[in-house]
Amino acid sequence: MTLQDGLSKQAYAKAKNIIPGGVNSPVRALKSVGRDPIFIDRGQGSYIWDIDGNRYLDYVGSWGPLIVGHAHPEVLEAIHKTAEKGTGFGAPTELETELAQEVLHAYPGMDMVRMVNSGTEATMSALRLARGVTGREKIVKFEGCYHGHSDSLLIKAGSGALTLGVPTSPGVPASTASATIVAQFNDIEALEDIFTRDGRNIAAVILEPVAGNMGVVLPEPGFLQKVREITKHHGSILIFDEVMTGFRVSYGGAQAKYEIEPDLTCLGKIIGGGLPVGAYGGKREIMEQISPSGSVYQAGTLSGNPLAMASGLATLRLLQRPGTYEELERKTTNLAQGLKSIAQELDFPIWVNGIGAMFSAFFTDQKVKDYRRACTSDVELFAKFFRGMLERGIYLAPSQFEAVFLSTAHSNNDIEFTLEQARAVLKSIC
Ligand SMILES: *Cc1c(COP(=O)(O)O)cnc(C)c1O
Repeated sequence: MTLQDGLSKQAYAKAKNIIPGGVNSPVRALKSVGRDPIFIDRGQGSYIWDIDGNRYLDYVGSWGPLIVGHAHPEVLEAIHKTAEKGTGFGAPTELETELAQEVLHAYPGMDMVRMVNSGTEATMSALRLARGVTGREKIVKFEGCYHGHSDSLLIKAGSGALTLGVPTSPGVPASTASATIVAQFNDIEALEDIFTRDGRNIAAVILEPVAGNMGVVLPEPGFLQKVREITKHHGSILIFDEVMTGFRVSYGGAQAKYEIEPDLTCLGKIIGGGLPVGAYGGKREIMEQISPSGSVYQAGTLSGNPLAMASGLATLRLLQRPGTYEELERKTTNLAQGLKSIAQELDFPIWVNGIGAMFSAFFTDQKVKDYRRACTSDVELFAKFFRGMLERGIYLAPSQFEAVFLSTAHSNNDIEFTLEQARAVLKSIC
């Protein structure tokens, strides 16, 4: 089979000339799976259509936000109704308080929340706040966790035994990198060592409590508790980046699932229901340090935009329907376990991690509990799998190191169809 993609090819050629790489976010270029991007025309429920007219069952969901599916009528209605009254004022609206209330209700560890426009902005602002409150400069992040593209967080582990960070991008100052210490996910002894050495200089530890940006990696039993204890003991702020996991691994995120209360939480993706929203929140005494009630500066022309608030609110209300998460989890498990059995049957190496409405199937025989293990995956095999699935009408995230996202729009038939196609694709690349 070959995909009809003449119009996508033309659109890409045109875009490439005037947009770097032809895309506004790198992963969309599909480089890591060795093909050109496809340009999307529209979406409905669990499906998207490209401009050549091909239909795909979509497991990306705009990278997570579309947990109720594409173009949900209730979300669209909320956006329309709000837009008719104007698209933004740069002055407070009651919609902002309403969404804040819903968020605080779902995350009891938060007393206050500030809306921003992206996940990147949320984590960047949370770090500034942590540094402002503690008067310390260093931060700890974990290898393989992604927190957006701000300078302090585009850092990976350097070589050797030392955990000094090195930039993952040109343009990140060495001085910024040197304030970021990189630890290994699920390695609590390493974190203890870092704190023994440098604890009184560490403003914050930031992590994805369930990692989703090295593929899905779950915290080992006790890991998050230990991180909580260590940060508390040393007076450092614990930041949970739940931009992906918030309202996805459960309504209350990973912190509800694992019963750990961080000092600050970052949200994004689902709380905007497909429109650009991020948020960070936490304990009152910390959050009141933000301008204008406090002196740590952070602002945004479009922050709390009414259309985005309306879209987020409509999405959260849909998610509050009884049984929603049980249903999401059941379908996710069926798909994840189905894939696993098919791969095992056909003798492909496979390791599956999943929780709530997200999972990853790694093409490796190692237990994936950190970034180094994730990197043992066969990315060539994944690229073949991805291209085969695309040809057969399944749109997966174009990287081994991304999650598969389900939505309430995915039906049992969708799951079955996906498994049939996966079997055919894996057979063809045996
Ligand atoms: C997507 C993501 C971000 C970045 O959010 P943007 O809206 O793309 O800036 C940050 N942290 C995590 C965990 C994410 O998944």
